[in-house]
Amino acid sequence: MTASPPITPEVMPIPRKLTEPARRNLVGLTRPQLRAALVDAGTPEHQARMREVQVWQWIYQKGVRDFDEMSNLAKDYRARLKDHFTIEVPEVVTRTVSADGTRKYLVRIAGGHEVEVVYIPEEGRGTLCISSQVGCTLTCTFCHTGTQRLVRNLTAAEIVGQIMLARDDLGEWPEPGRAPKDETRLISNIVLMGMGEPLYNFDSVRDAMKITMDGEGISLSRRRITLSTSGVVPEIGRTATEIGCLLAVSLHATTDELRNELVPINRKYPLAQLFEALRAYPKLSNSERITFEYVMLKGVNDSDADARRLVKLIAGIPAKINLIPFNEWPGAPYQRSDWDRIEAFADILYKAGYASPIRTPRGEDIMAACGQLKSATERARKSRFEIAAEAGLPQPERIVRRPNAPDVH
Ligand code: SAH
Ligand code: SF4
Repeated sequence: MTASPPITPEVMPIPRKLTEPARRNLVGLTRPQLRAALVDAGTPEHQARMREVQVWQWIYQKGVRDFDEMSNLAKDYRARLKDHFTIEVPEVVTRTVSADGTRKYLVRIAGGHEVEVVYIPEEGRGTLCISSQVGCTLTCTFCHTGTQRLVRNLTAAEIVGQIMLARDDLGEWPEPGRAPKDETRLISNIVLMGMGEPLYNFDSVRDAMKITMDGEGISLSRRRITLSTSGVVPEIGRTATEIGCLLAVSLHATTDELRNELVPINRKYPLAQLFEALRAYPKLSNSERITFEYVMLKGVNDSDADARRLVKLIAGIPAKINLIPFNEWPGAPYQRSDWDRIEAFADILYKAGYASPIRTPRGEDIMAACGQLKSATERARKSRFEIAAEAGLPQPERIVRRPNAPDVH
């Protein structure tokens, strides 16, 4: 046996990253958090308020990402900020532009996850649809996002970062010295209607929206922000008092029996409980009306009787109804209602005194329409039973096969 060569310990260089303290991202910190972070990094207490305002304005009013551009801060203070902090928004992986001008951004967040952000330009305004979670723990049977396996909550930075990256792409940060005007904004409205259930990620959504509404930053009015929920009843009151934005509710059915199937969270919070919380909302939030979203599924929820029940259900609530023609996705177990059926349904609502616009599907050619969002890397389909167990929901019943709708299992 030959003697083994002596082992010479190799000196492995320690990666630089491990030797450096992690720098903290300033994006997504609320104002008190930002001020505390600046103090932790050595900003004297008596200057903290002023520094907070200066840094805040650079980040959210001017869209600056580099501390060196913060020209009203002394050079050595900028160097200190650079040592401690970063200013980071999620990375845009791809941008797809639809024939109708709708833009869909596929965005990468920490951990390699992806979410989608959609910009919908309209005459004199523009709406940005942002996501609150990767995937969704709920399992609405008509929704593509609900079939996505991986779920994590987005951080406040990742939520407000979606607005910032869209502003980057649209070139909407003001020229130096020019204040943004509401009437000319490309992103005039924000809807939390992308991937995820925003009320299952309440704190981060609230912090991100507070940052968005702040008058010294992006400065969007709370009336231009709409949060859409499937009906997480315990958080509806807090949405009014802690965010104060407009509320949209994904109703989609007028009986518990059908809603239990389409929007399974209804088993936990049935219609009676949902409507009790909704009746309190306008007063609590001082907002005019609630939007009811109603996806039109052929032969499932689109009869005249459904429309009449809907009118009864929302009686007394200042309301607007958004009829959403079902957007199909590969393997979807439903079909879109015929156009004349949608119009007949809308007519019953209209005659009862409700504005009920039929939402024109936008960006369908790039799979950017409502409920079609799902990141390409995370297409593994979860079983509805698995998802319900994770979300602490009762196990779903087997779906009854309907005409024109193949069983989803
Ligand atoms: N989780 C929240 C917000 C995201 S979904 C919620 O459910 O409200 C945004 C809207 O798109 C909801 O009204 C949802 O019901 C609707 N939607 C989901 N899938 C759809 C589809 N395939 N076609 C049309 N609308 C859909
Ligand atoms: Fe989740 Fe909303 Fe889709 Fe339902 S409709 S699965 S709550 S994203």
